[in-house]
Formats: sequence, C-alpha cells, structure tokens
Amino acid sequence: MTLRYAKTAFIIWLLSVHNPILNGQASSWQQEVAYFISVNMDVQKHQFSGIQYTTLYNHSPDTLDELHFHLYYNAFQPGSDMDVRSRQLPDPDPRVGARISQLKPHENGWVDVKAVRQEGHILDYSVSGTLLSVSLKRACLPGDSVRIELNFRSQIPIQIRRTGRNNREGIDYSMAQWYPKLCQYDKRGWHTDPYIAREFYGIFGNFQVQIEIDSSYCLAHTGILQNPGIGPCNKPLPLNSGNKRTWVIRAEKVHDFVWVADPDFVKADYHRSNGCILEAFYLSDPSFKSSWSQLLPIMDSAFRFIEAHYGEYPYPKYAFIQGGDGGMEYPMATLITGKRPLNSLVGVATHELLHSWYHGVVATHEGMYPWMDEGFTSFVESETINHLRGLRLVPGQLEDDPHRANLEAFAKFAEQGEADPLCTHADHFKTNRAYGMGAYSKGALCLHQLSYLMGRKTFLQGMLRYYQQWKFKHPEPEDFFRTMEKTSGLELDWFDNYFVHTTKRIDYAIDSLDEVNGSVRCHLSRRGEFPMPVEILVLKNDGTAIRYYIPLNLMRGGKQFPKESQVHTLTAWSWVNPHYMLQLDCRPEDVAAICLNPERQLADTDPSNDCYFTHSE
Ligand SMILES: [Zn+2]
Repeated sequence: MTLRYAKTAFIIWLLSVHNPILNGQASSWQQEVAYFISVNMDVQKHQFSGIQYTTLYNHSPDTLDELHFHLYYNAFQPGSDMDVRSRQLPDPDPRVGARISQLKPHENGWVDVKAVRQEGHILDYSVSGTLLSVSLKRACLPGDSVRIELNFRSQIPIQIRRTGRNNREGIDYSMAQWYPKLCQYDKRGWHTDPYIAREFYGIFGNFQVQIEIDSSYCLAHTGILQNPGIGPCNKPLPLNSGNKRTWVIRAEKVHDFVWVADPDFVKADYHRSNGCILEAFYLSDPSFKSSWSQLLPIMDSAFRFIEAHYGEYPYPKYAFIQGGDGGMEYPMATLITGKRPLNSLVGVATHELLHSWYHGVVATHEGMYPWMDEGFTSFVESETINHLRGLRLVPGQLEDDPHRANLEAFAKFAEQGEADPLCTHADHFKTNRAYGMGAYSKGALCLHQLSYLMGRKTFLQGMLRYYQQWKFKHPEPEDFFRTMEKTSGLELDWFDNYFVHTTKRIDYAIDSLDEVNGSVRCHLSRRGEFPMPVEILVLKNDGTAIRYYIPLNLMRGGKQFPKESQVHTLTAWSWVNPHYMLQLDCRPEDVAAICLNPERQLADTDPSNDCYFTHSE
C-alpha cells in the first residue's frame, strides 16, 4: 500500500466513522416538505382548479429521481381499488358498501393533472389509480431539495368515506384528502399504498393554503387564518354574496391539512388558560345545540387530563368540526358527525382529539401499524372519558378499571380464532371486524398489558418518555418497545414478538391443590402459548390475604410493587415450562380460595379456570 493510497483510505474511513449516514444511523433522518396550494372553488360544479408548489427537502441518504403523490379523490370512481375491495369484503363498512360502484359521473371524484413542472421544465408523469408518479428532470441528491409545480382540476365526490360534499348531515364540503399529497419516503423507501380504505402517513412540514370561495361560506381548517375577519362565520350573510373571497391559512409542523366549508356554520371559541384556542363549528339544530354548546369547556378538562399524563399539545389551536361521516382525525382539527347526544359527542371528540398525540404528533405509519395510533388513542380515550365521568362532566358510572370492558370483549373475540396478527397492514385484515378488534381493541390492550408488566407508575413514565422522544417523528414498533424497556429496565422483545406478530392467547390456570407436610401446594399451568408473569391471591378463612407474584424469566426482572402491598415475589417461571408449583405457607384448613389474576389485569382469555375455592357452595 503506498502512502498516498493509505491517506485516501484513511480519509474514507474517517468519513465512514463520522458521517451518520454511513455508520448505521441512517434511520434517524426524516424527510421534510413545504406546500403552497392555491385553489379556486366552483360551488356550482363542485370542482376546483388548483396550483400547488411542493418542496421536498431530501434528508435521506438516497438520490431521488422520481416523486410520488397520492390522488385520493380517484378512489371514488366505480371500479376503483377501494370500490372493488369494499365489495369483496364479507363485512364491508356500511358507509362504503357498494356505493362507489353506483356513482354517476357528476357524483364521483377525480383529480385531473394538467401539468407537472420542475424549474420550469415540463415533466413526464403517469397516473395509476390513486397514485401520481413524476420523473424528475434533475435528480434530487441527498441534502438537496426539489420543488414541483402541479396544475390540476378536481371534482369533489359526494360524501362516501371521510371526504366529499353534501354529507348526510348537510355539511357542504368536508375537504379531507383533497390535494395531491406527497408520499412518505423513509428508511423503507417510498410508501405508495393505493388508497383502499384507511392508511395515511405523511411527511411533516409547513402548509400555506389559499382558498378562493363564494363569500357566503364559513371555513373551518387546520392551521391559523392569516386574514382574520374575512369569513361570514356567525355574521349575517354579506351583501355582496356571490362574490368570492380568498382565505389564507398557514400551518406549521403538520403532516396533513383539512378544511370544511358551509354557509350555515355556527362558530364557538374557548380560550384555554395556556392560550390554546378551541373552536367548534356546527350547524344550528335545536335537538343537538345543547351538546355542541357544552362541548368546548368539557374538552378543556379532557385536554388537562391528557396533557398531565401523556404530554403537552404543541399547537396553538384545535377545531372540532361537524363534517365527514363519523369521526376522523387531522392535524389541529377533527371532522365528526354532529347529530349526537352529549355523551356520544364527547366520546367521539375525545377519541379524535387524542389522535393529536398518536398520529398527529407521534406520527406512526397508520397503515403498517394501525394499533399504534388507533389502539393507543382508544386506551387513553377510555381513561379520559372515565376522568370526565368522575368530574360529572358527562353522564355514566365511574369505573375502577376503564379498560376492563375492552379486555373482556377482546378475550371473547380471541377465543373465536378470527383474529389476524396485529402486524397486519390496516388494509389487509381479512375482515373489517378483525381490523377493528385488532387495531382498536388489541392495540389498546397492548398498553394495558404493558401497564400490567411494568406497573402503572413506570408505564406512565414510559408513555411520557415515548411522546417526548418521538414527537414530530415517525417511530416504529421497535422504537416504542425500546423506550418502554429503557424506562422499566425489563426486556420486552418477547412481548413485542408474541403480542404484535402472533395471535397466541394468554391462559393460565390452577390445576390442583395438594398437601405436603401439612402445607398447601398449588399446581399452576400455562395453557395458552403466550407466556406472561402471573399474580396470585390466597384468601384465608380468617379474612387475611397473601399476595404472590411470579415474574416471567424472559423479562429479566419484574414489576416493582409498593412496599405496603406486601407482595411476595417468587422464582421466575421459565417460558419453556408449562407447569409451576407454588408452595404456600399455610395449612389446607386455613385456605378459603386461591385466585390467579385477582385484579383482572392480565388478558387471560379463559377466566373460568383461574380460581380454586376450598368450600364449594
Ligand atoms: Zn381513531
């Protein structure tokens, strides 16, 4: 090796050591985007023309020679993938069913791309279903940026799913998934999933949106209005109605943008003590006016509970907007149907608000990991609603465990054997029910079981740490579990593997009792394939109780109990052994009952074999 060659090699080595892209930290990058979108609405034809400048800042280590955009409106055409999938499912979403197949030309949705330019050059592009692919004239190098100009015209479909015009409650325009949205590019490359039903995954960035629309319309939206006072919201219709006005809106650090327009919106504001503004937009309907007029102060209490336990809401505004077809989350806003009694309105509003934490800010790929947004959201929703019940802000019984109903419902479902593993892509579950029970119920149960494994206090520390560490990022399951491992000191790989990647069930049982030298021996067995730590309560005839805890060897540790709980921690149960013998320090005649899982915190799918009573009644 010549000296000169060695020097070059040294420099290459030095670069490989110090360049984070080359030394294995490549996954820490994420893309960034800026949108400038200007649209002109034709409310007679339900169409708009648009010009959109999309700037992608390529923080990846890869050279990009093409870009991909979602054209979601194209899903609302007979024969689209969304239409076919809906008609193939045994239990389609009733909101979709066969409705797309029956759309007439003036009712369907489309995006007609007129031209795509880069630095003034006309680019080649192709459209396939809901995907627009653009070939760049000049490739975008790592660290470089590229700006694409899109000229397009779109027709707004009648409301079928999430987006569209004239929803069943009479909202004119629910404008979700309405603009050509740049596909996400991460360490796995492009995410170009066709729009079938439910997957969203976007790049964080800034939006400037200009909407020119008839002056009679009141708009609700993501972001902050730059020309306040422009709208007729809560004001008498302007005399010059028929003319148009341009709404200018900016949003920062968000990965999507929604807006809703209706001439009849009532707008309410609520100023939280920290300066954050809550807004409600709804149609005046005597039957539901009372629900909407109570909503914002109740949601202020919801915010306080969520922020105290799960992290701070980072934006200056949040809008609850009547629109859409149920409830759907967007950055800084939600679209919810509004003809609801107070309980139902608060329930859906709380769920969608919580997506600000799990989807809006901690922005997992909800197609690949739907349980990380729907499940986590559902878990905290149950706790928040229970808290609001405790404050008597909503009717309903305060529960000592707000997750129990979900645990029991999931146990029943798991016993039927119809579940898909949690790692299934949201669009690919075999039934809608399997998706719902998986993403929502089992996803919520994931947190519930972690709380059982780690102890409530440590679990909450972990959730807060997860939020702080991954806000404005796109964590994957291993990032979440790693945070929980660091917080608890426990090893959780096995839990990730069993819980997320299999449909194996948890079932522990008390097989029998016998007696040796005057003391009771309790024979326990693991009947399900999913190993977990076990808690046991022995009730004695004198009314006292003894508590035992058997950690699982795979955890490499155990949960910390408060000293006053006087729990006896026993030798760990090895996962390979289906049996465990518990030697009790009491005589057979002293024992009244022995119960596994006395707090009903373990997601044991067959509770019928959990208790042993010495005196049967
Ligand atoms: Zn949800």
